[in-house]
Amino acid sequence: MELQIYNTLTRRKEIFKPINAPHVGLYVCGPTVYGDAHLGHARPAITFDILFRFLTYLGYKVRYVRNITDVGHLEHDADEGEDKIAKKARLEQLEPMEVVQHYLIRYHNAMSALNVLPPSIEPHASGHIIEQIEFIKKILDAGFAYISEGSVYFDVEKYNKQFHYGKLSGRNIDELLETTRKLDGQEEKRRSIDFALWKKAAPEHIMHWPSPWSEGFPGWHLECSAMGTKYLGETFDIHGGGMDLMFPHHECEIAQSCAALGHETVKYWMHNNMITINGQKMGKSLGNFITLDEFFNGNHKLLSKAFSPMTIRFFILQAHYRSTVDFSSEALEASEKGLARLLEAYSRLKKISPAKTSSVDVKGLKEKCLEAMCDDLNTPIVISHLFDASKAINSIHDGKETISAEDLNELLEVFKTFIEDILGIKTSEGNSNNDAYQKAIDLLLNIRLEAKRNKDWATSDKIRDELTALGFSIKDTKDGFEWQL
Ligand code: ZN
Repeated sequence: MELQIYNTLTRRKEIFKPINAPHVGLYVCGPTVYGDAHLGHARPAITFDILFRFLTYLGYKVRYVRNITDVGHLEHDADEGEDKIAKKARLEQLEPMEVVQHYLIRYHNAMSALNVLPPSIEPHASGHIIEQIEFIKKILDAGFAYISEGSVYFDVEKYNKQFHYGKLSGRNIDELLETTRKLDGQEEKRRSIDFALWKKAAPEHIMHWPSPWSEGFPGWHLECSAMGTKYLGETFDIHGGGMDLMFPHHECEIAQSCAALGHETVKYWMHNNMITINGQKMGKSLGNFITLDEFFNGNHKLLSKAFSPMTIRFFILQAHYRSTVDFSSEALEASEKGLARLLEAYSRLKKISPAKTSSVDVKGLKEKCLEAMCDDLNTPIVISHLFDASKAINSIHDGKETISAEDLNELLEVFKTFIEDILGIKTSEGNSNNDAYQKAIDLLLNIRLEAKRNKDWATSDKIRDELTALGFSIKDTKDGFEWQL
């Protein structure tokens, strides 16, 4: 089975053929660290975590680079205004790196709660100023940039005569020339469509570095061109990010790389779709801006309750990454129930006793799940196959169907591979000693069972009542008991 991915550049699904198999270079635009992580951070992180996990499962050796934008991403426009991080630092009287560190730790904690694997390399833009200056020099040498008042701008019109500006986003340069709005300090640029590669810092600007052109800072788009090629080479396999980055960020990245190197750097461009909340775009001004921490603790007026990180992850995976996802408390509650059902079946599966005959098609299940993943990472279809298998597991559990020892082992393997390894669902949250914890509860409930047999109702009730008070639900069954938290 071959992996097919949708290439945004060619606008069609293509069979994935790495440039240098078994090695795969994957670059994903990471967060700008100036505020708490929210859903907009969760979706690309989870989308490309799935890709990273699946490529690894297929046997590829993936070098996954996800950058940290800590300079050059400006409040209103990539060219003008004050850097978001610098602004926060100035307002709160902090070192810019204090702001970065504060939010980066929080970002990492949120990603770890969502079970997003850390990338192989996580380079900071501010740690790659030299590489960015060298990249600008190449663009200048090739004649696609010009210096103006200590800043360096990319000459889009000249570039477009030789290459194609707009090929990723499908935008038309003539329309862009007309519609690009007037900007402060625009007179430095020949055309409003030109974008900054290097900006001379204003005296009050607190983040700046020396360069051949001025004391200043790099333009936002440059970091990804410089760091992507530094760590993955002049041509690499996959570049990913949110759809909102397609223009201007990724379009400018393509232009920078073609101008400096004479060719495109990226073979496959992948973009995840956006998230809406109750049908609306997420925004601070709309009052529907919910941080991941607020989801995890339920502390927001739009949330009916707290939702676990795995519920958020499962909810995101129930949509294909190229579809929009609309968050609402009701939708999350449905996902929470669905996930609980799936995990309950998984935990039942671990306790099933095999029979001589089998009425479950385990091989077919594995193939169908693989087929869905190979079809441009179709996680919702994988999940629906796992739900079908859960029904079969429940029938076996109820004695209506049977499974052989061989099939049981394989089914356990399929569930572990797809639920835990590929979809990255943790089966028990916030518990690193999951096994010991499960065994301790089983032990308590076995003591209760023994007490019941001895008609020691006081002990039996005490164990049940106190576990119930702790949030466990306990069900007596014909073979003993079932419990969940
Ligand atoms: Zn980027």
